[in-house]
Amino acid sequence: MHNCSTIIIHCIDFRLINKIREWMDQNGFKNDTDVLSLGGGIKELVDGTKEIQEFILKQIGISYNLHNARKVVLMQHSDCGAYKTNYNFIDGEAEFAQQLEDMHTAEEMIKNYYDDIVVEKIWIQMKDPHGEEVEFTNL
Ligand SMILES: [Zn+2]
Repeated sequence: MHNCSTIIIHCIDFRLINKIREWMDQNGFKNDTDVLSLGGGIKELVDGTKEIQEFILKQIGISYNLHNARKVVLMQHSDCGAYKTNYNFIDGEAEFAQQLEDMHTAEEMIKNYYDDIVVEKIWIQMKDPHGEEVEFTNL
């Protein structure tokens, strides 16, 4: 049986993958984390169809049951294309507010499904359009 502590859910965005891997290494997640990469991160867990919501919850369940992961890290980022196609944010603060609300909703949904799971939330602020400089914040 192979166990890991954590499931990280993050966006597919290629601009951030290297930075996310670095952050994982620096924060003790190396070789201890399953990764679920979805366009928009938890966006479709919150606003997708019932089938999509079930699919994502079951993906978390694979990690939960197979690897005994009991922590989920929700990792959302600024300038997210998946959010921009659905919303007309007036500024970065509006985007952050929406994604923060979605993270709270996702946390509730995950905890309702798996009652002994811990959920942590991370915001990745992009400082430039290419992801060369980014800032990770624990929410
Ligand atoms: Zn994104």
